[in-house]
Amino acid sequence: MLSSDVVVVGAGIAGASVAAELSERLSVVVVEAAASGEEHSTGRSAAAFLPSYGSASVRALTRASHPLYEAMAAESGVPLLQPRPLLWLATDELGLEAVTELTRTSPHLDRLTAGQAHRLCPPLRAERVRSAALDRSAADVDVAGLHQTYLKTLRRRGATVLFNAAVRDIRRHGQGWQITAGEHVLQCAKVVNAAGAWVDQVADRADVPAIGIQPRRRTAFVSPTRYDGGIAELPLVVDACERWYVKPEAGLMLGSPADATDVSPGRPTPDELEIARALEAIEEATTLGLRSVQRAWAGLRNFVADHEPVVGAWSEHESFYFLAGQGGYGIQMAPALARLAADIIAEGTLSQETAQYGVSPAGLHPDRLSVLRGTR
Ligand SMILES: Cc1cc2nc3c(=O)[nH]c(=O)nc-3n(C[C@H](O)[C@H](O)[C@H](O)COP(=O)(O)OP(=O)(O)OC[C@H]3O[C@@H](n4cnc5c(N)ncnc54)[C@H](O)[C@@H]3O)c2cc1C
Repeated sequence: MLSSDVVVVGAGIAGASVAAELSERLSVVVVEAAASGEEHSTGRSAAAFLPSYGSASVRALTRASHPLYEAMAAESGVPLLQPRPLLWLATDELGLEAVTELTRTSPHLDRLTAGQAHRLCPPLRAERVRSAALDRSAADVDVAGLHQTYLKTLRRRGATVLFNAAVRDIRRHGQGWQITAGEHVLQCAKVVNAAGAWVDQVADRADVPAIGIQPRRRTAFVSPTRYDGGIAELPLVVDACERWYVKPEAGLMLGSPADATDVSPGRPTPDELEIARALEAIEEATTLGLRSVQRAWAGLRNFVADHEPVVGAWSEHESFYFLAGQGGYGIQMAPALARLAADIIAEGTLSQETAQYGVSPAGLHPDRLSVLRGTR
């Protein structure tokens, strides 16, 4: 029987990052159902760091993550962020409104004319550009490097990670919990549920109310380009209404129809029709000439009702914490979100550092969801 202060369920980016932060102060065991922590959402992302994307709290946590990425990169010698500007593109009236709203919520964006957008991204069809805005602070993330850095850190601090250890049962045991995960039986004072699309299933095993997680499928693909002008330095181009996006990826172009279809937790398959739609939209807006898909995949972006992350424990279930609902931002904001979550889980309150992120713990607390839904 393994005993620790905390058991973290899930070793994706959420579980690995919060476990690394917690292991500085507490004894931690991480249990992961799969053979690695990159089987699900964490291994299927578009690996983008976009400070102008998401709600106000997501953007604040993303900004706060930047120096943490830099510090980890300096310590590990692995560069984790590579600058890649983000071009928000409007090709119609709706897009124009979206760009106006984006420049209001993210004043660091530069509004560009069609000519400026075309100079920055020559494959753009200038005549299709209604408006554009540039986020120079965006970057590509080395997701595997980030994830491995957290796993190395938590092990160095004495924490244990158990793979192929699906949580089957969680029950009250004295003041704490007893957990059966794979062949292991664990005891702990606190549980952190970072099981991505499966958080409500894990909560149910502990007789803790659900937070109402909704997994949404997103498809992505890589394709060779017929554009012969050199692609490595092209920006990430995102349709301002989020109907598609495209960026360079290791000599190919990575595209996505930005689909967001409600599905059940599991291993989603890419949606061929959505890929065809994205290829057409990208062809209309650019001369990239993407026609053959070399590889396609899909993953889950997990949301609760208000699309904000969930950090904390229901008031009536104090030692069972959620770290969930990161939607399409779980990589970019992972460093700051993990630090803030570790403060809440270990101390019950924010430190001087995490208080400065400008995010209200009440806005992330699960209790807000019972108000939203009017019931538990
Ligand atoms: C196509 C796509 C593109 C994306 N692009 C970006 C992007 O550019 N930037 C960005 O910031 N975010 C992006 N995201 C979102 C990002 O990938 C997620 O927010 C993030 O990976 C969520 O991490 P997680 O650890 O919560 O989930 P996961 O990585 O899914 O980890 C949850 C883990 O819990 C484990 N688990 C489940 N049940 C149990 C159990 N009973 N016992 C033990 N373990 C269990 C699972 O096996 C899994 O490994 C994208 C997502 C997709 C799908």
